[in-house]
Amino acid sequence: MMENSMKKTFRFKSDAYKKARGGYSRCLLLRCEKCKQTILLYQKDGPGILKRLYVDRVIAPAGLPGRKNQNLTCKGCKTVLGIPFLYKKENRPAWRLFAGAVEKEVVGVGEVAGIRF
Ligand SMILES: [Zn+2]
Repeated sequence: MMENSMKKTFRFKSDAYKKARGGYSRCLLLRCEKCKQTILLYQKDGPGILKRLYVDRVIAPAGLPGRKNQNLTCKGCKTVLGIPFLYKKENRPAWRLFAGAVEKEVVGVGEVAGIRF
């Protein structure tokens, strides 16, 4: 069960990447724009629009970072949402999101319990 549903709580990662982006983070729930399937929970560090997803910032589902070399795909409608690449400046594996592929919603740390993927 824990594989598919969110842990009750999580903590934001706090490291040099976060510090470089102003030291604050939000939790974003991403859904497929086409079919509204829940895709992932993400720690967004700092301001600015979401253009890439760093693999190390995926909060859930737990198995997703292991698929970092594959396209990010909606399991609902199979749309490819992003493609893997290496963000060279920081040597961080990431997915480059296609424009408009996902919907974003800011969620509180206390709101994530029970979100299913
Ligand atoms: Zn979809």
